[in-house]
Amino acid sequence: MKALFKLSLAPGNMELRECDIPEPGPDEVRIKVKAVGICGSDIHIYHSDIGLPLRPPVITGHEFSGVIDKVGTNVKDWPIGERVTSETAYSRCEECMFCKTGFYNLCPERKTLGYWYNGAFANYTVVPAQNVHRLPENLSFEEGAATEPTACCVHAVNELTNIRGGDLVAVIGPGPIGLVTAQLAMVEGADVVVLGTSKDAHRLETAKELGALGTVDVFKENAVEVVNELTEGRGADVVFECSGSTSGIDMGLSMVRRMGQFTQIGLPGAPVDVDFEQIAYKELKVTGSLGSIWTSWDKALRFLASGRIRVDNLITDILPLDDWKTGFRKFEAKEGLKIMFRPE
Ligand SMILES: [Zn+2]
Ligand SMILES: [Zn+2]
Repeated sequence: MKALFKLSLAPGNMELRECDIPEPGPDEVRIKVKAVGICGSDIHIYHSDIGLPLRPPVITGHEFSGVIDKVGTNVKDWPIGERVTSETAYSRCEECMFCKTGFYNLCPERKTLGYWYNGAFANYTVVPAQNVHRLPENLSFEEGAATEPTACCVHAVNELTNIRGGDLVAVIGPGPIGLVTAQLAMVEGADVVVLGTSKDAHRLETAKELGALGTVDVFKENAVEVVNELTEGRGADVVFECSGSTSGIDMGLSMVRRMGQFTQIGLPGAPVDVDFEQIAYKELKVTGSLGSIWTSWDKALRFLASGRIRVDNLITDILPLDDWKTGFRKFEAKEGLKIMFRPE
C-alpha cells in the first residue's frame, strides 16, 4: 500500500512510500481508509515543531474514517464492513489519575495515532478496537473524517466552557476548528462573532452562512471596538482562541469582559508574549483544551448526525494521496478550509 511517512525528526522529511498492509493485533481492527483530513498538527509534524511525542519513521494522519476490513482474534463486537472512525489516543497507561477518571487526553503516557503509531495517510490503518466509533448512516466518509476535529471542539465548548443562552461569544481564528466551535456556541444559544484576517475573507463568509451574528476582518476593523459596541462596552462573555497566534491571544484577553471566560484551543508552538495581568485585573476564568475524550466523540457524532453541526461546507478539497504536497501547500496558504485525501 501507499503511505505518507515522516521519516526523521528533522524538519521536512516526509515522503509517500510503498509499504506492507498492516496486520491487526489481537485487540485491534484494521480499517480501509476512505477519507483522511489534514490537521494543523500534520503541518507541525512536517516542520518538526510539535510538542507531542513523535516516533519516526511513522505514517502520519489521524483525522479519518473508513471501513473495518479485518479484526484481531479478541475482537467480537466489530463486524467486517462496518463504517467507522477512530479516536486518536492510540495508547494510554490506564493507570494514572487521568486515565482512571476518563481524561485520558491528559495521560502523560498517551501515544497518538499518526505521531507514535502508524496513522491514516495510507490505504489501511490499524487501531485498538476500544477507540473505534460507528459512523451514523447519514454521514459521508468525509464528514466522518471530520469527527476528530469536531470532538476537540466539543471538548472545549461543551465540556470545559460554560456558555449561557444569549452570551456574546467571540471566536478568534476562522479555520475548521473555529467554525465548528462557532456552531457549537450557537447550539448553546450564544450570539457569535468570528474574527479573522483579510486572508480569511472566504472563511469569514462561511461563518456568516453558518449563522454567525457578525464577522470581523481584524486588519480592517478594530475588533475590540466591534465587540464592545455589541455589548454596551462590556466585552465578550466568552472568547475561544483558535488561532494560536500571539496577536489573537492578546486580542482575546482585551475583548473578553470582566469575569468572562477565555478558552485557549489554538497552539502557538512556542512561548508567547501577552498581557497576562489582564487575567487578574478582569478576574477571568481561563482554561485550555487539549484533544478530546470518549464523551466528546459521542456528542460530536450526535451533533453531526442531527445536522446541528455542519462540516460538509467546510470540506473544500478532496485529493488523491499522490497529491499530498498540493494539499499541504494549500493548507499552509490558507486556501480552502478542510482539505482531505481519498487514499484509494
Ligand atoms: Zn487533528
Ligand atoms: Zn494514563
